Amino acid sequence: MKNYDVVIAGAGAAGLYGAYNLSRDLKVLVIAKRELTLCNSALAQGGIAGVYNSPDDSPEFHKHDTFVAGGYENDPEATEVLVTEAQTDIGKLIELGAEFDKQADGDYHRTLEGGHGKHRIFHHADATGFEIETTLLRTVQALPNVEIWENALVCDMAKTETGFSYLVKMADGSFETVNCHFSILATGGIGRVYMYTTNSAIATGDGIAMAYRLGAEIKNLSYIQFHPTAFNNRHTRECFLISEAVRGEGAYLRNCKGERFMHLYDKRLELAPRDVVSHSIIFESKRVDSDEFFLDITHKDPDFIRGRFPMIYKNLLAQGIDMTKDYIPIFPCQHYLMGGIKVDTYARTDIENLYACGECSCTGVHGNNRLASNSLLEAHVFSRRAAGDINEKAKNAPEGFAEYEFDLHEGAPKMPEGFRRKIRKIMQEDYFVIPNVEGLGKGLEEVSEIVKTLDEGRFIIDRDYVEARSLATCAHIILKEAYAICSESADIPNMPIFDKPDEE
Ligand SMILES: Cc1cc2nc3c(=O)[nH]c(=O)nc-3n(C[C@H](O)[C@H](O)[C@H](O)COP(=O)(O)OP(=O)(O)OC[C@H]3O[C@@H](n4cnc5c(N)ncnc54)[C@H](O)[C@@H]3O)c2cc1C
Repeated sequence: MKNYDVVIAGAGAAGLYGAYNLSRDLKVLVIAKRELTLCNSALAQGGIAGVYNSPDDSPEFHKHDTFVAGGYENDPEATEVLVTEAQTDIGKLIELGAEFDKQADGDYHRTLEGGHGKHRIFHHADATGFEIETTLLRTVQALPNVEIWENALVCDMAKTETGFSYLVKMADGSFETVNCHFSILATGGIGRVYMYTTNSAIATGDGIAMAYRLGAEIKNLSYIQFHPTAFNNRHTRECFLISEAVRGEGAYLRNCKGERFMHLYDKRLELAPRDVVSHSIIFESKRVDSDEFFLDITHKDPDFIRGRFPMIYKNLLAQGIDMTKDYIPIFPCQHYLMGGIKVDTYARTDIENLYACGECSCTGVHGNNRLASNSLLEAHVFSRRAAGDINEKAKNAPEGFAEYEFDLHEGAPKMPEGFRRKIRKIMQEDYFVIPNVEGLGKGLEEVSEIVKTLDEGRFIIDRDYVEARSLATCAHIILKEAYAICSESADIPNMPIFDKPDEE
């Protein structure tokens, strides 16, 4: 048994920045189930949105764009916090050594992405997330009060009289039980519940499933963002993202005939919010009866393209595509989760001393569709606020640590194969960009059966089992919510608000 004041499950931007902001008097453990840079944070390309020393912009404008993208379903209080506190956290990242690109005059270069009315995205070429993640890792690894466990899988957690206990499977296969007074879940998204996603392999919704089993409220899990421009090689589960910033810098979308088509669906053309663009691609695929789509930036200066998007350029070249000359094959795929563990503006869940931040949480700032580059911002703003709240509460923390005995399923058989494949197929077929309303009920039934088998069955506790159980739990909540929306009204879940072109 090991005891800590605070345990943070997750070492992405949310987990690390939370750890950094906790008082140096607190003993903190950060746990990552795979290598430290294997997370969605490290994959982020476009940047971090926010008004920081930007006289032509204002938090009000940022808030307006966030509301428009989010279909006005955003939580007003949380969104106000997000946009007004952006300057604190972007400033802090710069202070910690994160390098954001600068222009010739020395000021920061702020790029544009779909849905933003102003240039307000701070970026490190096209690999911003990796720059932020490594900056935070360097910072947190140097803190004397923080321990980081890598390749350590949180398998389950329990509420105790003095806080929480975690069951952790270590890299050598042994189990550790860890107790704490305060717990932060920062385990990221659920992308791996789909056949195709931009998310990293860790995005299996473990934190959401654990919080759900503890009885925490889960909100808007059916609010899933499908990015319109994932590289389409039709082979790999993890689809390489072609950043929104490529459209921000002027790229066109083209159908199988090489024609631009966004004018048929939305006045904002290629710079419409993501959900509008993804839906437009699906509508267009039906109109032209083809799912071949392309992103075209060949009309821009090749040196500019190579300098502005070095990582994307290099990755595409390795796939035989020279983006300075060739159209890039793209198609929508799962990208982001707007819902999650419901939290307030201090990242507090409805379970005492349980916090959630980053992509596994639902602060409500994204409404039903996240504005590009607002998620890294959200991860920072709300993990800092969680840490601040814990720093205060820790002054009156309980004495000692209650212990919890987990069932280790000793002697149990290995989980049979095939559950994850089945879940992914159901999700891809029934709850992709435009949900298959007729299929939702059957999909829900099938997933419910899988949840029952995994919850009630006794299988070896390993990564396959833990992740399959999380995926099944998340798929179940998503389909149940979507099914309820369709059953109670004529609404189709995930439908965006279009700014339709004028009738001729
Ligand atoms: C390709 C791509 C590009 C993106 N581009 C942008 C962008 O430009 N701007 C933007 O704002 N957002 C972007 N996003 C979204 C953004 O990167 C994420 O929403 C954000 O980084 C999530 O941070 P996080 O800390 O919540 O989760 P993550 O960074 O995913 O970290 C999750 C952590 O939890 C750990 N974990 C999970 N389960 C367990 C477990 N059971 N036990 C132990 N540890 C566990 C993982 O090991 C990992 O350390 C992008 C996302 C992707 C996938």
